[in-house]
Amino acid sequence: MYVVFLGAPGAGKGTQAAEVAKELQLAHIATGDMFRDAQKKGTALGMKAKEYMEKGQLVPDEITVAMLLERIGQADCAQGVILDGFPRTLAQAEALDKALAQQKKAIDYVIYIKVADTELMKRLGGRWICRKCQTPYHEVASPPKVKGVCDKCSGELYQRADDVPETIKARLGVFHAQTAPLIDYYTKTGKLTEVNGEGGMTDIRKRILDAIKKGKPGRNR
Ligand code: AMP
Repeated sequence: MYVVFLGAPGAGKGTQAAEVAKELQLAHIATGDMFRDAQKKGTALGMKAKEYMEKGQLVPDEITVAMLLERIGQADCAQGVILDGFPRTLAQAEALDKALAQQKKAIDYVIYIKVADTELMKRLGGRWICRKCQTPYHEVASPPKVKGVCDKCSGELYQRADDVPETIKARLGVFHAQTAPLIDYYTKTGKLTEVNGEGGMTDIRKRILDAIKKGKPGRNR
């Protein structure tokens, strides 16, 4: 099963994708995490991606598509995947459809997690992430038990370099200009379900799982 999680930065794609992937026993692939990992390792891909990420811009499609297609070809993806943060442009969506079609596969569900921009600005501004397991926290909405320490793995929490106000604004602009057209693209395929991404984590997760289980496109507020 191939599931795409679509949503603006800060919509909660990462948190929800991790939990839903566990529940449905699918691989969780986050292109943002892959780029950050490559940066940490100091690879050529990581250094190239950094130039764009620092400015809140998208990494070029050729680089991103090649990295993603290589990743979904790996053994742990055989049962299917949740894609978190990919595709982010029409060209990426088309490349993915084409690559899957060559293997007689297709995307099954697209979950669009919708959150208002004012809420996104608030969320991203106070976000802290675990260096080890990537679990996100929020200073106000979901703080860790001990400041700076991950509840799950005791890893160190840090603030992403692109979670600063100017870059947050740029990322939201990029979402509206380049990624939002995918809502239309996937609505036309009949695979998209819009899920309200505001409220409690458990409620949002339930809405997502219901949308996948029901398998019917439409609104699920
Ligand atoms: P994220 O962790 O999903 O918020 O992604 C962080 C940054 O990584 C984005 O602002 C982009 O610079 C880059 N990135 C992640 N996924 C993609 C993608 N599918 N296409 C292009 N750039 C991406």
